[in-house]
Amino acid sequence: MAKKEDSEKCCLCGRGETATRPLLTGRNGSICSDCVQQAYNLCKDAGLVNANDKKAVSQKWALDLNTLPRPTELKEFLDQYVIGQDDAKRYLSVAVYNHYKRLLQPKSAQKQDDVEIEKSNIIMVGRTGTGKTLLARTIAKMLKVPFAIVDATVLTEAGYVGEDVESLLVRLLQATDYDVAAAERGIVFIDEIDKIARKGDNPSITRDVSGEGVQQGLLKLLEGSVVNVPPQGGRKHPEQKMIAIDTKNILFICGGAFEGIERKIAMRLNTHVVGYNNSATQQIDRDNMLQYIAPQDLRAFGLIPEIIGRLPILTYLEPLDAAALRRILTEPRNSIIKQYIKLFEIDGVELTFDDSVLDYVVEKAIEYKLGARGLRSIVETIMIDAMYEIPASKTQKLHITREYAEKKFERCNRLQIS
Ligand code: ADP
Repeated sequence: MAKKEDSEKCCLCGRGETATRPLLTGRNGSICSDCVQQAYNLCKDAGLVNANDKKAVSQKWALDLNTLPRPTELKEFLDQYVIGQDDAKRYLSVAVYNHYKRLLQPKSAQKQDDVEIEKSNIIMVGRTGTGKTLLARTIAKMLKVPFAIVDATVLTEAGYVGEDVESLLVRLLQATDYDVAAAERGIVFIDEIDKIARKGDNPSITRDVSGEGVQQGLLKLLEGSVVNVPPQGGRKHPEQKMIAIDTKNILFICGGAFEGIERKIAMRLNTHVVGYNNSATQQIDRDNMLQYIAPQDLRAFGLIPEIIGRLPILTYLEPLDAAALRRILTEPRNSIIKQYIKLFEIDGVELTFDDSVLDYVVEKAIEYKLGARGLRSIVETIMIDAMYEIPASKTQKLHITREYAEKKFERCNRLQIS
């Protein structure tokens, strides 16, 4: 009798079995799942857990065809976080849906006919701070797929100072805790793709180590191949152990400002309307030329045709005007203003803003040409004193007026752009 009772207790913590704490029974004793979890965490922190422990992590990234959100659902989700940019949202939703539909279809369906659906990577063109990264990040969040943001500017051709293109995949590996299978169906957002455009029309005049050479390297990742990735990133060196990753099912979303591309679009449009009556030219919306972007404009900007071919989905983001900035402050689910209200709420303080404060923040963001990226730093500058003083005071309500905002902002002329 005594023996049975002993075996029903965890030999580490001494606690008995419950529904939430089942016991793992061995030959000489039992151990509860809480202790197993703690032991696992200890080993993990000490780097003793097998990095390719697929089972444990894959579950987290599980996605199936039945639960895959439809494009309209994806767009609705994006609407909650991203203001405007309707065209980009629709393109992105369709492309992402098709991508995961393609890779989640049962193997039997794939074999039935010879039609193989090709991968469709995406390129988004739009000024900095208009929501390119936010769109990609939000869609990855909804799908619960591994996501990594990488910067094309650090890349150089193999053999030069900088990073090899394969290093782009390291972030994705890290995002999945080195679960290769999960990383192989993730999303990589390559920012500043325009910075690797060919510098001149004649590629052979000078060595273009951060331009065309990198584009060639990138090509093999975009089209899908097995590449060896140095687990810690940086340059590959011979003694290093590599991780092989197949990029066939990785979705690449590229973003770039492509500064000056409007001129190339305008040139193309102008040449097109020669010989027709002028009404076509008059209808062109000169304030937002990006909406007319076409693959040939990317080529004129310096992307090689092979890269453009591997980025078949081309979309654009609109510049954000005052009205859009104003909406960004308050409307998204985790808008800046909502975040500050929550921060104060935790201290038991009810924070409110005059509408004119929000107008003031937008005015300053436009004046300093900071766009949406600057909204946060402006609000932070206005709120910093209150955030310093209020938690230790007895205040329960704080209302911010335009006068208060102006005083705080002007005193702190130095702006820190986040
Ligand atoms: P980009 O990648 O185009 O340079 P980001 O997506 O990084 O710009 O945007 C920077 C920040 O500005 C975002 O984190 C977000 O807070 C805000 N932002 C930019 N555009 C929008 C938008 N359309 N809707 C909501 N917030 C936006």
